[in-house]
Amino acid sequence: MDTRLPEFPELEINGYITELDLLNNPIFTAKEKEFLSEFYDFMEENLETDLKTLEELNYLAEEPIQEKKREIVVNVMKKLAEKSYYSTIFDSEDYDIGNVSRNALIALALCGGFWSRNSEKYIGGNWSIEMGRLAGGTLYCNPVNYKANDYQRNKFLNPVVKSGAMAASAMTEFIAGSDVFRIELRLEERGNKIIANGKKLFITNGMLADYICLYGRLDNGRLGAIIVDTENQQLKNFESSRVITYGMRDAFVSRLVFDDAELPKANLLGGDGLDIMFHQLTEERLVISAEALGDSIKKLFYAHSFAIQREQFQRKLHQYQIIRFPITKNMREVNIYLSALMSYAREIDKKQQLERSKIMASQVMGLKIETCELAFQTSLDLFRTMGGRGYTEQYCNQIGLLDAYCMIHGGGSHYILGDSESRKFFKK
Ligand SMILES: Cc1cc2nc3c(=O)[nH]c(=O)nc-3n(C[C@H](O)[C@H](O)[C@H](O)COP(=O)(O)OP(=O)(O)OC[C@H]3O[C@@H](n4cnc5c(N)ncnc54)[C@H](O)[C@@H]3O)c2cc1C
Repeated sequence: MDTRLPEFPELEINGYITELDLLNNPIFTAKEKEFLSEFYDFMEENLETDLKTLEELNYLAEEPIQEKKREIVVNVMKKLAEKSYYSTIFDSEDYDIGNVSRNALIALALCGGFWSRNSEKYIGGNWSIEMGRLAGGTLYCNPVNYKANDYQRNKFLNPVVKSGAMAASAMTEFIAGSDVFRIELRLEERGNKIIANGKKLFITNGMLADYICLYGRLDNGRLGAIIVDTENQQLKNFESSRVITYGMRDAFVSRLVFDDAELPKANLLGGDGLDIMFHQLTEERLVISAEALGDSIKKLFYAHSFAIQREQFQRKLHQYQIIRFPITKNMREVNIYLSALMSYAREIDKKQQLERSKIMASQVMGLKIETCELAFQTSLDLFRTMGGRGYTEQYCNQIGLLDAYCMIHGGGSHYILGDSESRKFFKK
């Protein structure tokens, strides 16, 4: 059964908005714009139909949609990988901009969508699809790339980067959330095997993943990381199930249970688990900042269009200051944060050791928190602008209204460095 009301037409984006056109924005360099423009063409040609179908499935009540969604999501990652858009760690020589900048630009576009000059229409983004890309392409690939030996690289990294196999990174547990030092999952050595016992929570892609970078406690009490080949989710003594979240409807956030699961010791990554985990966190936070800014852009497209189309008391809504002011304020803030985002991304691309700098980690975390809160605020302003429609799935689905609510926590924003410490760089 389709839950849409025939009286509510689809909310149309009715025009190009200069302030939201990244290709028209002096913050980006010519090379960055060229990359973005190519990605936009790819998105319109290869992803638009998939993203639209994912949205349409949300309107069906009383029908199983999870399997259909699973197939689309897995296919999207393969399409992204064909063009090196899933993980950006390889093929650097083919591009004039660095890996981290590319990663951020893809996230911006995939969440924000864009006004297509080819077809004169808005192509919508989807934050939950981007979360799947980030979990597989960055949270899994970057630490594995950092520590894998040749055997591990061939067997577990290449299939993800080059062929778009689904992957995940499993840090969070029921007790160890922000405080990853408290990880309890046991990785016990037994001959040439590692026996995994414990549970993980909120793992993006967990129930779709072919490979998982699993963090746990070794016999010597230290944290380690091991690659789990889930054997197409059929691995013995391993179970995965979905955590239903109120946004992020295509991200397959999961709960994992390892109950005496046997893993080959050859899959253990060398070095300290915490060091491996932290190796990707700065880039993760930066990409999530790009996602949040993309999402804000998408919400602004919708708020602006609705305010122009809807009339009450013989005036269009945009003629009321209470409606118009938040839209323009949010547009200004997006631009300030875009500038910080691209400066950090370019600096890290220039000097890779900055990824390991505590001050950079802190600044980028401040940016992540502020941009996610801006995405949250933009959703709130859009929600108010839409009146009663904001309560219907018909409009929530179309614009991913609740995605930003998940990302206040999603993606490990609070590990180790205190919220207040990092935020000081962005005091307004
Ligand atoms: C959509 C989504 C996707 C996710 N994907 C993954 C994934 O792929 N892999 C993975 O491992 N995890 C994932 N997570 C989990 C995420 O990393 C955790 O939710 C996050 O680390 C917070 O942990 P927690 O939920 O246990 O909150 P808690 O740690 O219980 O924190 C509760 C509150 O206390 C605050 N707090 C805690 N410590 C401090 C401190 N020192 N200073 C100031 N405030 C503090 C927190 O900010 C928060 O507001 C995902 C979460 C979501 C929502």
